[in-house]
Amino acid sequence: MSQKTSYLTPKINLMWIRGRGKIQFDRPHTYTNLGLRGSGKSALLEALAIRFDKIIDLFGSRDSEGLAWCRSPFKDSILFIIGDSVEISSEWPYKKVSELTLSDLNDYKVILSVSAFYSNLDEEFDALNHILYNVLYRRIQWSKVWFLMVREASNFIYSRIKISRNQSVAKNDFIYLLREARHMGYAVAVDTIRWTSIDKEIRDVSDYIFIKRVGVQGLPRDLRFIYGYVNPISMMNPKPHQFVLLSNRGPIAIGFFSKPPWHKEEKENLFRELGIQIKYGEVPQVGIGIQLSDWDHAEIVKTYVETGKVSETERLCGRARGTIYRHVKKHNLSIKRKGFCERCRRVKGAYTEQVILTRGVAKGSLAHLPSAPTSSKPKPRIGAKNDVNFTLARNVKPETE
Ligand SMILES: [Zn+2]
Repeated sequence: MSQKTSYLTPKINLMWIRGRGKIQFDRPHTYTNLGLRGSGKSALLEALAIRFDKIIDLFGSRDSEGLAWCRSPFKDSILFIIGDSVEISSEWPYKKVSELTLSDLNDYKVILSVSAFYSNLDEEFDALNHILYNVLYRRIQWSKVWFLMVREASNFIYSRIKISRNQSVAKNDFIYLLREARHMGYAVAVDTIRWTSIDKEIRDVSDYIFIKRVGVQGLPRDLRFIYGYVNPISMMNPKPHQFVLLSNRGPIAIGFFSKPPWHKEEKENLFRELGIQIKYGEVPQVGIGIQLSDWDHAEIVKTYVETGKVSETERLCGRARGTIYRHVKKHNLSIKRKGFCERCRRVKGAYTEQVILTRGVAKGSLAHLPSAPTSSKPKPRIGAKNDVNFTLARNVKPETE
């Protein structure tokens, strides 16, 4: 660590009151911060983070506080990860999430993804899954420990629910991550959520538990033995920079840290201060009620093209015959008018620019379709008949035939 950096390093001071321990910043250990909102947990995570070779800050809160790294001593070594639908203008380099690879991380100290880098929550949750399981999990060999910050564990849980559609599976995935991350050289630090059903499991796999302001409800049952060492009243409302530390080997310390000077204050607008501008694009539509989502639409189109049979598409997609025809028809119409199907494009479907011919559509009539919706010619009906089974090869465009 350079002179300049160590001068700026926020202190973490410990006084051991039971046994004698040590925080091993060179090991892929698991850290848990326990405390009420506003008790300075996030600032403590940042003070811990800077002691590691690399900081990966993905699971942040809605207020994008991770942007504060942009005014930290590491401001010249930050990579933004942004949603595919988003355009960003700032002085920092970025990667779109679908293009991110593990080797992109090598050249930067801080890897940052904040909520505002996505057009909506769905896009963010998809991105988090992708980054974690398709990028970070590929770290098979390692020598230096990287620090994975989870400022909001609920963001992790919700992003997993999106995949597994099941809350308890998502929780198990999280515990699994905490257990397994060490094998890939990640120290993971978590701000606990008050989902008491999982909090205890998180604590059980933690190497260090930092206890901050616990309020009148006091410590969870499994930690109450600490009251034998620290007065309960004094733990209700300590200052934000104070904490009690429990090491999983048994030692207990009291301590304090200095708040990182770059840490975001509640009312700051970091986007304005840092000159970061974001333009949101089209993101996939999620279906509501009986309406199908863009993913469902693209799935129908893809299945239809690949099986060439409406009956197979019915079976594989679990959709009614009429629904399938309607979506193929809409897909084709959109391509004729705009050159692409916007529903397929939003989810990067394979057939975004390909008209799907059905037996009911004569090639000749397709060629005469109006190319713009403003045309006054009567529009030929597409796919009105249902006796399908006819698909164009991928590279064939009806217009050019
Ligand atoms: Zn489509």
